[in-house]
Amino acid sequence: MRLADNPRPIVAAVRRFVEKEVRPVASSLEHADRYPHELVARMKELGLFGALIPREYGGLGLDSTTYAMVIEELCRGWMSLAGVINSHTIAALIVLNHGTDEQRRRFLPSFSRGEARGGLCLTEPHAGSDVQAIRTVARRQGDTYLITGTKMFVTNGREGNTFALLARTDTAANPPHKGMSCFIVEKGHPGLQVVKSIGKLGYKGVDTAELVFEEFPVPAANLVGGVEGRGFKHVMSGLETGRINIAARAVGVAQAAFDAAIHHVRARRARAIPPILADIATRLGASRLLTSWAAGMKDRGERCDLEAGMAKLYASEAAQEIAVAAVRILGEAGALTSLDVERHYRDTPLMLIGEGTNEIQRLVIARNLLERYGEQPGALTSLEGLPDERKQMILAARQFVEKQVVPVARESERARRYPAEIVETLGDLGILGAIVPPEHGGLGLDFTTYAMILEELARGWTTLAAIVSDHLTVAHLTARSGTAEQRKRLLPAMARGDLMGCAALAGTVTARRAGRDWVLSGTIPAVDNASHGALFAILARTDRERSACFLVERNAKGLTLSAPLDTLGARGLHTCEVHLKGVRVPGPALAADGAVLALARLGIAA
Ligand SMILES: Cc1cc2nc3c(=O)[nH]c(=O)nc-3n(C[C@H](O)[C@H](O)[C@H](O)COP(=O)(O)OP(=O)(O)OC[C@H]3O[C@@H](n4cnc5c(N)ncnc54)[C@H](O)[C@@H]3O)c2cc1C
Repeated sequence: MRLADNPRPIVAAVRRFVEKEVRPVASSLEHADRYPHELVARMKELGLFGALIPREYGGLGLDSTTYAMVIEELCRGWMSLAGVINSHTIAALIVLNHGTDEQRRRFLPSFSRGEARGGLCLTEPHAGSDVQAIRTVARRQGDTYLITGTKMFVTNGREGNTFALLARTDTAANPPHKGMSCFIVEKGHPGLQVVKSIGKLGYKGVDTAELVFEEFPVPAANLVGGVEGRGFKHVMSGLETGRINIAARAVGVAQAAFDAAIHHVRARRARAIPPILADIATRLGASRLLTSWAAGMKDRGERCDLEAGMAKLYASEAAQEIAVAAVRILGEAGALTSLDVERHYRDTPLMLIGEGTNEIQRLVIARNLLERYGEQPGALTSLEGLPDERKQMILAARQFVEKQVVPVARESERARRYPAEIVETLGDLGILGAIVPPEHGGLGLDFTTYAMILEELARGWTTLAAIVSDHLTVAHLTARSGTAEQRKRLLPAMARGDLMGCAALAGTVTARRAGRDWVLSGTIPAVDNASHGALFAILARTDRERSACFLVERNAKGLTLSAPLDTLGARGLHTCEVHLKGVRVPGPALAADGAVLALARLGIAA
């Protein structure tokens, strides 16, 4: 979903803040590596420090989807601002989800107000990806733990004051993570020194620091959850939100780089259009969808470690490629420090590392995929958000494919055999009328469910998915633009599968006016399922150089087909060349609007 027109008030408020207050100053603050005190104060006023904290503790109580949108908006202006919020938010979530009631009451309201400014202390000089290798210890002494060790790369380490810190409380534990505990550590004792601010390639302005603890006293009441040995799980559980956050950041920075590229190309109208714009826009859209998908699962309380990891992995890699592409498109201007694009180029690599490097991400995702294979219908798709009847439809399609399609697909494909019996059963199941309105005998499903059904069919045999998708593209065109007579006569038969549609949307057909009729001539080189189709939707160019669609029945005078063509794959589809020689079509042409072509493309994508 494009976030620009989002109706959520907080997202709109953050967008205004970014446009008016962040963009004008971001580059100069970033180049000076100066902490943005004034912007952080405004973020407090907006309530962003309590974004995910429930209202009862003074937070905004946003869901993860809205939070991701907020982060995207911030990062369109300046990625470092999201850094100020994110590790703070993860520290707060550790207290919210794993702390005692007393800890929640004590810490969460001040986290919400941004008085307690949180950070995460996990990484150490010799322990990054391998968190279990940390050496920081917390030794109990009466009602206090004494913490000794060094923590690296702590975002908000200098400006923050309240950290979630992972330390070993049992150094003999095996595996080591069973001896780790999480503490809420508040600054204010000389045993904690911020010894160094760490300079970085990008992501400047937000402080990244090295913290040294020497016998630093922490009250036992700050041991998260009050029980030792659970800290590793506590900090890992926060990383789901952290990964969604990085994915959303990546989308924001990528959007900013893309916007800069588009503005540049539009400003130089005479130059050729760079085709790479298509690739980067597609990757940007896919990143946003993966991010909102993972966030949506989190909001529904589903397990989403795999999906959050995928979103983080994909979006961060895409953001880096998009930033590089923007530099290429701008040419020399892409390297100018007076423009934002070079900043996006420097910011994006940090997202490949933060919240788990992408190499580790790949290992974890691959392991998860093997362990959880088959848990969810559809390779990647969660059905949890769908109403029950839709879920049933998809599961019925899956069962049908497994029982009736998979056993015969290979042999039928090899023999180039049209799957007549299977198509008939699809008609009986209602799938051939999936998106036909119920008043015309169809199921009237939404496009999301329709796309998922097509995906299931294609998992069994692409030929089948192509037959259904072409047929329903024609049915949709008829329902949308056909006359009342056409809808009444054609749609019920199409929904039953008695009348199969074929989409002929690419070719060199011309349409000439002849009184109230049209006369079509030309050739469409490859029309799927043509030899079994009874109704063709044909896209043609009219006298006025416009595109229009025409419904032509198979027995129309002047319409002929070649023998089925040999194809590389999707055999059994009986793709033919269609010739039209003076084919007369009565009545008005149908609107050849983008929705029909979009539906055809959706069919191929599914
Ligand atoms: C900008 C920024 C902000 C950060 N903020 C914080 C923070 O607030 N708090 C905090 O605790 N930490 C923070 N970090 C640290 C971050 O979490 C670590 O950098 C990250 O976990 C990687 O650890 P490392 O840098 O030690 O790299 P290493 O773990 O040493 O990894 C180096 C390389 O080896 C690869 N590698 C390592 N192990 C394996 C393996 N088993 N298999 C395959 N490849 C492997 C990695 O993928 C990577 O490519 C931050 C880092 C950055 C860059």
